[in-house]
Amino acid sequence: MRNIYFDICSIPVFIVLLITCKIRKMTHGRTNRLFLMFTCASLTCAVADFWAELLVAAVPMSRGAVMLASFLDYVYLLLRNASLVLYFIFVFVITRTDYRIRSLKNRLLLWLPYFLLVLILIQNFFTHNVFTVTVRTGYTRGPMISALYLIALIYGLSGFGYCIYCKRYLTAGKWFALLSVYLFTFAAVLIQYLRIDLLVEMFSTALGLLAIMFIVMRPEEAMDASVGLQSWQAYQTDLRNILQSRQPTQIVVIQLTNATEVRTYLSDAVFDPFVQEIADGLHDMFRHKHIRPEMYFERPGTIYLIQEEGGAKLSELIPGFMRDMLERTSIYNELGVQLNHKICVINYPRDLREWKDIINLGHRFARLGPDDQTMLKASDVVSSKHFEVENHMDEILNRAIVEHNVEVYYQPIYDTKTGRFHSAEALARLHDSRYGMISPGIFIPAAEALGLIPAIGQEVLESVYRFIAGHDLKALGLSYIEINLSVAQCMQKNLVDAIRQLQQKYGVDPKTVNLEITETTFNSVSERAKRNLGRLSEMGYTFSLDDYGTGYSNIQRLCRLPFDIIKIDKSMVDEMGTENGSRILHHTVQMMQSIRKKLVAEGAETQAAVEALREMGCDYIQGFYFSKPVPEKEFVAFLEANNR
Ligand code: C2E
Ligand code: MG
Ligand code: MG
Repeated sequence: MRNIYFDICSIPVFIVLLITCKIRKMTHGRTNRLFLMFTCASLTCAVADFWAELLVAAVPMSRGAVMLASFLDYVYLLLRNASLVLYFIFVFVITRTDYRIRSLKNRLLLWLPYFLLVLILIQNFFTHNVFTVTVRTGYTRGPMISALYLIALIYGLSGFGYCIYCKRYLTAGKWFALLSVYLFTFAAVLIQYLRIDLLVEMFSTALGLLAIMFIVMRPEEAMDASVGLQSWQAYQTDLRNILQSRQPTQIVVIQLTNATEVRTYLSDAVFDPFVQEIADGLHDMFRHKHIRPEMYFERPGTIYLIQEEGGAKLSELIPGFMRDMLERTSIYNELGVQLNHKICVINYPRDLREWKDIINLGHRFARLGPDDQTMLKASDVVSSKHFEVENHMDEILNRAIVEHNVEVYYQPIYDTKTGRFHSAEALARLHDSRYGMISPGIFIPAAEALGLIPAIGQEVLESVYRFIAGHDLKALGLSYIEINLSVAQCMQKNLVDAIRQLQQKYGVDPKTVNLEITETTFNSVSERAKRNLGRLSEMGYTFSLDDYGTGYSNIQRLCRLPFDIIKIDKSMVDEMGTENGSRILHHTVQMMQSIRKKLVAEGAETQAAVEALREMGCDYIQGFYFSKPVPEKEFVAFLEANNR
């Protein structure tokens, strides 16, 4: 009898691998499914191999044993070769190049040798020219067995070659682990060729799979373990993959729009199982409908589904499912938390063709459609100017920097004591050659997100310093110009140096510049921001606290930070018409006076508002009532006309 101990040893390894997959929640998704199929096929092969060997060792055999041994040999040959094909596909999937085997032609090409192998095995029933098991001689091989070896060799060598070719797509460790399955198999075949009595093939496969499990299958990279769905990184790569294959695909994005708030209220430990509940529900539904979309999760609360076209339409299934799900889920019932959601359906390539556009839409669609509409079709959203602009923001901003498309407008600020305009706020305007005028409310946050705020901020600073140097502020009646600094600017490493250089270049007195900072800057308590402001303060710059009343107005900040001016946000001024609003504003003014801060009220649009603010004791007023932000020349003309 041949040595079956290697086969026996491989069996627990395969079983442990399967259990590990289950424990590590590696059961969903293409990569995991293929790995599971490969491991199951190998386990069955190992069992069939050793059992057949046991049976044929005892010649002469009974008729029943002959039949069973033949059956096991067929199982072994079918599954062993199928697993070679599966592993080849696995290599394609791991290297994210499976778009190459998506077309029907390539799929047929891939499976063709295997079909041939099946035909050869079928004809073996009648001809026994591959192998035969008889009562007396046990297992004997026929001449056609070499055809099977040839087919296995074709898969082995082409898979091995493809692995080598794919080195550039993988880290060295992963690449070597993928190759190792082939290397172990080649070594096993060689050993078995030299020592026919050693059945080492399945054991070598087990070693290869162990390497794959520990080096390649890293669920923390492909999976979000806390919700049991594939990760956001996996979504990005798979999407890229699909775009390369040009296969028509439906992408559905389900955004839990208040996930951040609910997470804060409930903690992640309560929220994550809830997402898992939704994912399980989706899996069940898809199983019933016989479809298998890939599912991904992005924190804090977005689920992405990818489904190749054909089969049931996700856009018809998802809205009803989500409505029911959010109605009956445990969190909703027990804690009374209302989860809001929005769904967006993107048909590739009809709606969008670019990877970046699809990713962007997935993030933005909730803000782009009407508030009361849960279900959005990408086709409705992508044609809007808003999406166009937001989607091309990096291009627009880069153009703005190169072509100097940022212009600074000035809005005068009225002094209630003197009845003259005593300062002004510099406000950035972007005129894009393609998309026209873009509001700072859109391009400033985008510049922050894209890391372009230093360059944009520099354009604004330079423009204002040039303006101050080029005009006699005193003669115009102005004490200083206010410049907005965004959160990211305040944290900028070279902010102080950049300002110092401008100051020297234009010979500007720091007293003629006031820097506006929003409250939120200090939420993200950055030491660098504090240090920057401290140094600027030492250089003689003064600061305003912008948008007071919109954030968590913090007493400590008011008391300790070097603000000379507090700017009351327009939203507070708008509430002045109500009794409470008026009282709050009144007391705010008194409070600021008592801690000796100057007060600017923003957004006064009517004479009544201006009168009321003056009566309350507001020091300065800024608003459309006096002037909108206007270009430099118009602003100077305005001052000359009104500040005489
Ligand atoms: P902000 O600093 O609070 O600027 C005041 C905003 O209120 C300006 O909007 C101004 O046009 C608007 N405003 C003033 N009076 C009235 C009024 O009576 N009615 C109405 N409806 N609006 C009024 P704008 O220019 O669109 O700027 C929006 C925000 O963008 C600014 O809010 C500021 O946070 C940011 N921003 C603008 N320019 C810059 C810049 O150069 N750098 C940075 N970092 N942020 C900027
Ligand atoms: Mg401001
Ligand atoms: Mg403001």
